[in-house]
Amino acid sequence: MSNDTSEGIGTDLDEPASLNFLKRFNSAGRGFWSHVSDADWNDWHWQLRNRITTLEQLERFMPTLSPEEHAGTLLANSKLALAITPYFFNLIDPADENCPIRRQVIPRIEETNTAPWEMSDPCGEDAHSPVPGLVHRYPDRVLFLVTDRCAAYCRYCTRSRLVSNSMIGRLITSAVTPPSVTSC
Ligand code: SF4
Repeated sequence: MSNDTSEGIGTDLDEPASLNFLKRFNSAGRGFWSHVSDADWNDWHWQLRNRITTLEQLERFMPTLSPEEHAGTLLANSKLALAITPYFFNLIDPADENCPIRRQVIPRIEETNTAPWEMSDPCGEDAHSPVPGLVHRYPDRVLFLVTDRCAAYCRYCTRSRLVSNSMIGRLITSAVTPPSVTSC
């Protein structure tokens, strides 16, 4: 990081133009996907289809995985799945284990630790869910959980109990399974 603060926040707050650098979009480039056409790269369908979802893929694109990340990724799909779009992957700093984007989407083994005081429903939504997929906490507000799929899975997700491991699958199972039938 440069020590040059001539364009920085603390130097000239009276001139809004000096903050314009914060709004500047800097493309991270295509990285391993440099062969991909603009049409594909800018197509969210393509990004979803080409997500990194396995340890094998992740190690291929990022050989600098730490032991904690390697172990966490091995176990990721038993809890909150691994999924990173190519675009998002290119925002990661492969040289910095504490890169915020990296910490956001690459699982770590610490995820499997659960303290006694931790709650799977930290926002207290389940108590306000009269039917699956709907949260009714406030009298004039209803939240529909219309999908359990995300483009990338954030390791801090407060709804990790609902996304990626198929809430929809559970809904379908409960919808088609008569009460007298026990599913396993
Ligand atoms: S629900 Fe939101 S926070 Fe959770 S994994 Fe999906 S995008 Fe991330």
